[in-house]
Amino acid sequence: MSVRKLALVTGSTSGIGLAIAEVFARNGIEVILHGLESIAEGEELTERFERDYGVRPHYYQCDVSRSSEVEKMMARIASEVGQITVLVNNAGIQFTAPIHEFPPDKWDKIIAINLSAAYHAMRLALPGMQEQGWGRIINISSVHGLVASVNKAAYCAAKHGLVGLTRVTALETAAQGITANCICPGWTDTPLLNDQLMAFAREHNTSFDEAKQGLISSKAPYPDFVAPSEIGELALFLCSDAARAITGTAMPIDGGWTAH
Ligand code: NAD
Repeated sequence: MSVRKLALVTGSTSGIGLAIAEVFARNGIEVILHGLESIAEGEELTERFERDYGVRPHYYQCDVSRSSEVEKMMARIASEVGQITVLVNNAGIQFTAPIHEFPPDKWDKIIAINLSAAYHAMRLALPGMQEQGWGRIINISSVHGLVASVNKAAYCAAKHGLVGLTRVTALETAAQGITANCICPGWTDTPLLNDQLMAFAREHNTSFDEAKQGLISSKAPYPDFVAPSEIGELALFLCSDAARAITGTAMPIDGGWTAH
């Protein structure tokens, strides 16, 4: 059976999501781009995709912290582009503070974007996948879905929650041709790390580049960042037929961080 591989990658204007979208586009998976950026900025990105990969993707601007916005976007995609068969829940934010100082509004925002948005997108995408008898759900969790670090209460709670949500989805859909997995990256070179790098540089009185090395060696034995494209290649493999029995997993790609 040949299924149209149509992938929505949330948060694909930057970092890991953009790299996943690029690997998909390069390998013949139709991509729908998404982010907070304006329609004009999204159009620039879709033009670049057309130049680089020969196919112009759609772009949707949507704040996934609001469930009603996610509902509107999913309905528009279904009517304007078609049935999503690959869903990559990648959009995410970070904020660090000790738990007794953690601002409640930041907690709510992180849980909404890093966890609840994935639930909403999944519940809306699954009926279409069930109809097709094929689907791939790839949730970008983190090493912080598997282990904890100080000052990351909301992030760890959301990312651990995403692993649990993904496992339940895998159990419910395993006999329907659908797989659901988490990818759990360690330090990956994207703008999301900028605040943490600047804080590290301030605290240790180092340059930004020295802070990168310092941050890596504080957690992972592998002496480099994960490249966003490497996460893209793993996501691509999860979309292949060879990965049909891989479901309910939380796969670290973390330079050995969680091997401790
Ligand atoms: P990034 O800041 O480069 O990209 C984040 C993306 O999410 C952007 O496209 C942004 O527009 C989108 N986004 C943020 N808030 C949004 C909202 N409210 N509505 C819609 N879109 C929103 O970050 P990144 O490092 O590429 O992170 C991508 C994912 O990978 C996140 O879920 C993050 O937690 C996870 N992750 C990152 C690392 C790392 O070291 N960079 C490690 C583990 C996991």
